[in-house]
Amino acid sequence: MTCKRIAEIQKHLTADSAALIVSGANRFYVTGFHSSAGSVIVTKEKAYFLIDFRYVEKAKSVVKSCDVILSGRQENEILSLLEGVKYLYVETDSMSIAEMGRYQAVLGDIELLKDDKLDRLLEQMRAVKTEQELSLIRRAQKITDETFTYILDRIEPGRSEIDVMLDMEFYMRKLGSEGVSFDFIVVSGKNSSLPHGVPSDKLIEVGDFVTMDFGAVVEGYRSDMTRTVAVGAVTEEQRKVYDTVLAAQSAAIAAVKAGKVCKDIDKVARDLIYGAGYEGCFGHGLGHSVGIEIHENPNFNMRCETILRPGTVMTVEPGIYLENKFGVRIEDMVYVTEDGCINITESEHGLIVL
Ligand code: ZN
Ligand code: ZN
Repeated sequence: MTCKRIAEIQKHLTADSAALIVSGANRFYVTGFHSSAGSVIVTKEKAYFLIDFRYVEKAKSVVKSCDVILSGRQENEILSLLEGVKYLYVETDSMSIAEMGRYQAVLGDIELLKDDKLDRLLEQMRAVKTEQELSLIRRAQKITDETFTYILDRIEPGRSEIDVMLDMEFYMRKLGSEGVSFDFIVVSGKNSSLPHGVPSDKLIEVGDFVTMDFGAVVEGYRSDMTRTVAVGAVTEEQRKVYDTVLAAQSAAIAAVKAGKVCKDIDKVARDLIYGAGYEGCFGHGLGHSVGIEIHENPNFNMRCETILRPGTVMTVEPGIYLENKFGVRIEDMVYVTEDGCINITESEHGLIVL
């Protein structure tokens, strides 16, 4: 699979151009190898993975798409691999100006191409998942669903947000998650009106909404899910907000289909939430693509003009946040198909009162 990815990049190169891939996510995507360093050079005919002593032995047994080369200081070594190359594409989204300077200093006459062609190409390739990638994301989501079921029995008045978060993390690791998909959000009561609030030592109380946003990692692929549950009792207002968010999410998921424009999906949920009287209370985009990174392109927001393609995994996560009162967000992951989408999140959607 990684060989196909290298071949796809090579299709976009000419005999006198090459690509340099140094960002962790893209490097993993084209090598299938996890490392904290290393660079991939792709020329029209060849591909090399330069990696240091810490990783080289493992890389030689795992990486099939590139010639693996033991490397010291990579900026100095790549010149010898770029014979006949005049132009070098780099990842302008992730390479710092200092790094570009270091490369340019050793590359002499080779010109670094500072447009975003390489970034956009890899982004487009990564947006369409293979069956194998999808199965890893499904496994990550299964762990996430199981963790939700587990924690439902353990959310109770008197327990702190941090304590619940740590319990979820620990359980998820025991189920086989390689780590956390991102820093989990567990917020309760008034804190739940903060879309990206940080878990605190606040104790959960009767009458609180508890919002949990979390995910697992399986073989480098991530899941992402949010659920809001009530503790002990719910007011009419809480129920109305919950039902509105859920209706917005259901309508948006029903609208997802290959060929649709991303911003139009956002609009479905946004119109419904604003129409119910909550304009100004849904201040983030409806969703994002997920894969090797937790936030990938395209996005469901008010600006994204990308046309959905089959094979893309998107989150659908509307929310309503009432300042100083409470918030609700419900997030699923869906897999875009020609006819619609497949929801890969299996946890309950209806309001759970614990
Ligand atoms: Zn999330
Ligand atoms: Zn998300």
